[in-house]
Order: sequence, then structure tokens, then C-alpha cells
Amino acid sequence: MSAQPMAYLQGEFLPLADAKISIMTHALHYGTAVFEGIRANWNAESEQLYLFRMREHYERLRKSAHALMMELPLSDDELCEMTIELIQRAGFREDLYVRPMVYKSADALGVRLHGIAEDFLAFVIPWGAYLDTEGGVHVVTSSWRRSEDTSIPVRAKVTGVYINSALAKTEAETAGFDEAIMLNDDGHVSEGSGENIFMINDGVIYTPPSNDNILVGITRASVIELAEQELGIPTVERTIDRSELWIADEVFMTGTAAHVTPISSVDRRSINGGETGPITAQLERLYFDAILGRLEGYEHWLTPVDSGSG
Ligand code: PMP
Repeated sequence: MSAQPMAYLQGEFLPLADAKISIMTHALHYGTAVFEGIRANWNAESEQLYLFRMREHYERLRKSAHALMMELPLSDDELCEMTIELIQRAGFREDLYVRPMVYKSADALGVRLHGIAEDFLAFVIPWGAYLDTEGGVHVVTSSWRRSEDTSIPVRAKVTGVYINSALAKTEAETAGFDEAIMLNDDGHVSEGSGENIFMINDGVIYTPPSNDNILVGITRASVIELAEQELGIPTVERTIDRSELWIADEVFMTGTAAHVTPISSVDRRSINGGETGPITAQLERLYFDAILGRLEGYEHWLTPVDSGSG
């Protein structure tokens, strides 16, 4: 059988094309859902798919759901088993992206969280590079500020908050850039539209702390660990000013979709002459080795999935 995108909806596996929900679904109208993005990366040499830090993604999903007073109907073990089965049923032999979601599923109008039934869904699709990482990306400071925790719980991956990211991303792309960097209301660097940001100066790595309105990324944590363990470079979590990025030695972004993406310019100021800097290059290599099962000591981040023989 040929490979096809698959979904898990209302407790059943089915082709994505057949997975339908009502146009009155509460989450569609009010952004009342939380979600994750999990990658399964294809190692062509060993012909093996590796899910990256799946359990950590489900732990974050549970916390996001908790913030919106929702519960997951499955345990962490059941979620992991479901994901493996979803991928096996889909049968792809390439890079994949799994999108689990807890959403207010009732056919109900009325803006509120309480008294509205919720449900869980997931699907898997093939998904390659999100940002062009060959040679680095060009980013611009957005006129849109990253949502404040006083408006929306920014530590939770809430669908509704992504209008903030969408506005910033579209503004950046239509102006000829690859990605946006958002400041918080204090005017400090927060993050990209779907990525965390790092800068490197004099051999030290810096990244904004969690209370500068970032979504605390799983890729961010992985890169901090790789830098410390493999390169002996500590990461300092501290507030970063916009112009610090302009004159930094190196700048890069991290995210499930974006992996480790070098930044070659910020607001038209080139970074390291537009070339990927030496520490970014090493981190990029370490990260790709880790996610493809080629870096000893990081196997606990991976869940191998046999996805048929092709
Ligand atoms: N910030 C935002 C707004 C995001 O959407 C993402 C992607 N989930 C990230 C940061 C990076 O998080 P992670 O590394 O866990 O994918």
C-alpha cells in the first residue's frame, strides 16, 4: 500500500482526508485549543525514522492543556504508542511532522473555557525543511510585539496566540525577509514567529529567559545541553536588546520545524559577514547528528519507528 497522511480522531485511526470535524467546533471560532509539533526525522543511511523528544512534547501539551483547564484523554504512554502507530500506518520513508492537539470540540458558541467539551486529535504529514538553512536566513524585527503573559498564557502553545506569529511572519515575508523577530512589550528580544533565538559573543551563548514571553522550546533546551556537554560552552539566559543582535558574533534560531537555523542578517545588518559562524556550525552539526541517531549519548531523545520496507 502506498504511504498516506493519517489522522487519529475520536479514538480512531483514519486517512487524514477522511478526518472531518464540524464547522461549529468551538476551537475554530475562538482559538480554544493547544497543540504540539513533533518531528520524526528520516535517516536515509540506516533507513530509520526517529521521533525527537516525543515524551517532552506530550508533557508540554499536557501543561498547555492544563493552562486552558483542559485534560488529555490519554496517558503519556498511550500518547506515545498512538503516535508510533499513526506513523506506522502512514508508512512514509521521509521527514515527518506530527501535530497533536487538544481542542474545545463541542458545537457551541459562547466565548469561555468552562463547560465546553474537549477532545484530542493528531495527524502526521511529510514535512521537510521549514526555513531554508543553506547559508542562513534574513530576519527583521517585527512591528508586532510578542503577546504578553498578561494577555495570553505565552508558555502554553495555544492556537489562538498564533495570530500574533502569523502577523509577524507575513509582515516579514512580504517585506522580503525569511523570518520575524518579535520584541516583548519591554522592547527586549523575545523570539521568532515559531522559533527561539540565540546569540553568541566572545564564545559565550546567550538566549532570552523564559519570562521574556518566549515559548520555552524543546529544541532550545536540546541545544543548550549540546553546547554545554559537547562543546563546554554554557548558555546565559538573560534579557537581550535588539541592537545586541546587530553586532553579535553569531545569531541562530531553534525550533521543531526550523531545527537549528543560522541567521545571516538582522534588520539588514549582516552577521559574521553573512557566513554561518563557527559555534553555530558546530551546534547545527551536533543537533542533526543527535536527531538522526548519529550522536552517542543522546539516544534517550529518540524513539525509533519502523515505517515499513517501502
Ligand atoms: N516559539 C514559538 C512561538 C513556537 O511556535 C515554537 C515552535 N514550537 C518555538 C518557539 C520552538 O519550540 P520547540 O523547539 O519546542 O519547537
